Amino acid sequence: MAATLLQGEKVASEIKEGLKKDIEDLKAKGVPPHLVAVQVGENAAARVYIRQQQKACEEMDIEYEVKGLPESTTQGELLSFVEQLNRDDAVTGIILMMPIPEGIDARRVQIKISPDKDVEGMHPANMGRLVYGEMGLAPCTARAAVELLKSSGVELKGKEVVIVGHSEIVGKPLTLMLLSSQMESPTPTVCHIATNDLAFHTRRADIVFVAVGRPGLIQADMVKDGVIVIDIGINRVPVTDENGNPVLNEKGKPKKRVVGDVDFEGIKEKASFITPVPGGVGPMTTAMLLYNTVEAAKRVAARK
Ligand code: NAP
Repeated sequence: MAATLLQGEKVASEIKEGLKKDIEDLKAKGVPPHLVAVQVGENAAARVYIRQQQKACEEMDIEYEVKGLPESTTQGELLSFVEQLNRDDAVTGIILMMPIPEGIDARRVQIKISPDKDVEGMHPANMGRLVYGEMGLAPCTARAAVELLKSSGVELKGKEVVIVGHSEIVGKPLTLMLLSSQMESPTPTVCHIATNDLAFHTRRADIVFVAVGRPGLIQADMVKDGVIVIDIGINRVPVTDENGNPVLNEKGKPKKRVVGDVDFEGIKEKASFITPVPGGVGPMTTAMLLYNTVEAAKRVAARK
């Protein structure tokens, strides 16, 4: 039987609906959520994310502002700029757009963002809170993946969970969230590039999260019947015709499509639930950014 799709848009719209009242309350208190995206230099990928964030904030009537700094900005200037935003009570959330120019240490800048305005949940203080089971401002993609799993309604107690990928932005925070008692304490195992036999782990898992960035990494013979698969990977791969030749777009360039890290077609026949790519974790990540933006504004309001 084919798996049930865990549709990101559906869960995302429920989350957004739930935020509306909080946004109204914050406005009534004189602390409207106001997210500032800091972009250093020009970058096409960052522009795409900025447009997405802008649209999402507009939809929710959240103020979104892009502060563009020149490519020549030094580390010191950027740190001072972030400090100014931290001090500005009218700014309730700050996001540093990646990539930033070479020569600037992104981590040093992210650490400078006030933990209360850290809508990406990347500040060590917010990461540290995950150890204590507090999910207030958590990394958006990891939280998105967890919320999609919860939307399946499946009991997690006693389940074996395998997380493939241990990045700071996804795999590690995801693992900490799963260890929280709020998540009914499943048993997580984390796999990574140095894992000896990935299939050994994924085959015994009731739930598999994959966040690597390698199309087709998890094949149907690597999972058991009834598995739940949350595919976080985003990969742009060439579209090919039935002979395996690249299909060209109207500009004569190879046409691309977005896929995740798992063999979706093969696994959906075995799984009980699976996230599509696109349309799974992606839309949920944007919803979690809005959630964090509202959460950050509440913290700023509480300080007033
Ligand atoms: P990352 O920082 O490159 O981390 C990839 C992780 O995968 C690393 O922990 C790496 O291990 C591990 N890995 C690499 N090859 C492996 C293999 N063959 N077997 C097992 N593990 C392997 O990437 P990321 O930022 O976490 O992103 C991962 C994927 O999620 C990407 O496709 C990205 O585009 C996508 N993503 C999606 C969203 C969304 O909104 N849907 C948001 C963020 C990221 P080592 O560190 O040991 O090499």
